[in-house]
Amino acid sequence: MNSQYPFEVASVWEKCLHVIKANVPEQSFKTWFEPIIPAHLHGKTLTIQVPSQFFYEWLEENYVHVLRRALDYAIGREGQLEYSIIVDTGGDRQPPIKVQVPTHSPDMMEAKRKAAEPHLPPPPKSTDASELEMYLNPSYSFDNYIEGDCNRLARSAAMAVAQRPGVTSFNPLLIYGGVGLGKTHLVQAVGNHIKVHAHGKSVLYVSSEKFTNQFINAIKNNTLQGFTDFYMKIDVLILDDVQFLSGKEKTQDTFFHIFNHLHQSGRQIIMTSDRRPSELQGLQDRLLSRFKWGLTADLQQPDLETRIAIIQRKLQMEGINIDEKVIEYVAHSVNTNVRELEGVIVSLMAQASLVRRDIDLELAKSVSKNIVTSEERTVNIDTIQEIVADYFELTVADLKSKSRKKELVYPRQVAMYFAKELTPLALKSIGYHFGGRDHSTVIHAIQMVNDLMQEDDSVKDTIQRIRSNFGG
Ligand code: ADP
Ligand code: MG
Repeated sequence: MNSQYPFEVASVWEKCLHVIKANVPEQSFKTWFEPIIPAHLHGKTLTIQVPSQFFYEWLEENYVHVLRRALDYAIGREGQLEYSIIVDTGGDRQPPIKVQVPTHSPDMMEAKRKAAEPHLPPPPKSTDASELEMYLNPSYSFDNYIEGDCNRLARSAAMAVAQRPGVTSFNPLLIYGGVGLGKTHLVQAVGNHIKVHAHGKSVLYVSSEKFTNQFINAIKNNTLQGFTDFYMKIDVLILDDVQFLSGKEKTQDTFFHIFNHLHQSGRQIIMTSDRRPSELQGLQDRLLSRFKWGLTADLQQPDLETRIAIIQRKLQMEGINIDEKVIEYVAHSVNTNVRELEGVIVSLMAQASLVRRDIDLELAKSVSKNIVTSEERTVNIDTIQEIVADYFELTVADLKSKSRKKELVYPRQVAMYFAKELTPLALKSIGYHFGGRDHSTVIHAIQMVNDLMQEDDSVKDTIQRIRSNFGG
């Protein structure tokens, strides 16, 4: 490509990199900024070359501010950025296609970013519906919320509330579940649905943290009346992560009054929490008892089928096609929560776009390895297989093979035993990672190892010694 770009572009980009480097973690710098090629400079417009559309979107989503700061420094306030995307058409013979992305003024980029951001600035003065809409992120919808056993009740209750806010007996509606299981998505979907279908109803989504901050500011600025008036006019109030109100007595008092007012006048209240109401310590009993008036529904960890559907949906939205085998692998490997699952998909796309290769099983393995091992206390199943194979002087392929030779069966059982103990994987998924065995084989293996440990101290010893290799 054009390696001998003019001196000026190079030095401007050098300056930008200088600022960027100081502002982003080293790994991100390597991943997202080193591959960029400064293309040209026309007046105050700098054009940079990026490897894919996805890469460009990623930069825009995540690094707008840093890029702005860099431009300010290198070119000045009027500095503009243009992206040129190189789409790899496969063969080396064909020249890359350049797509010129229209210039984004920094203000436009900012506006775009804001529009996509779920929680936002202090409450507007009026409850003008158009102003409130800013609080909702339109990308969260029922359409792209995959249904499964793990979320059926919560989803249908949310749907009922979305169709008839304030009218059903699901008032308040409280959705609870662990981190990354889709609470925010679901309640935002309710808000978006109402916004589109029930014109004139004002919907407000606010995180409990934001609510608390607004409350504190209202006290400081002596505008508490305005604050409560504002909230008492809302038709549908969505308060995310109420566990955050724990121990904040004054905020709870005010919320209690707002809650009562809204509820009495038939307005809809929707809340989320990361734990069941009975475990919400630090929340006043009178508030908790209000929560019981409506419906409490939980979100569980998604089962395998739901995980597969979520991955497929996500890829479809990104316009990416990958092998079923890869999808299956990821679904079997990441079962903690949907956010992690999405994280793996995003990294996969990022990696694929960086090194310009297809998303294949190898890539999926290396990517999910990094992500899965970052999970606290969990050891990756690949690592377990490697360590156990090493210990018995076998290969991982031996452990996965169909062979039922005695010298393979025992190590394989030991590896399964550790997989169960050290990873959050379901038996079915463990079997999958051992050459597609079924879950009863895994149960049997675990049983065998347990029995042997009871009967034979040397087995106990072996297990102990292998365990010490997992660093915990
Ligand atoms: P929480 O608020 O419970 O921590 P989020 O609502 O932020 O979780 O969800 C995390 C990510 O997972 C979001 O990107 C969301 O869109 C996605 N997600 C969660 N559940 C589903 C689902 N059932 N279908 C599709 N995407 C989901
Ligand atoms: Mg959330």
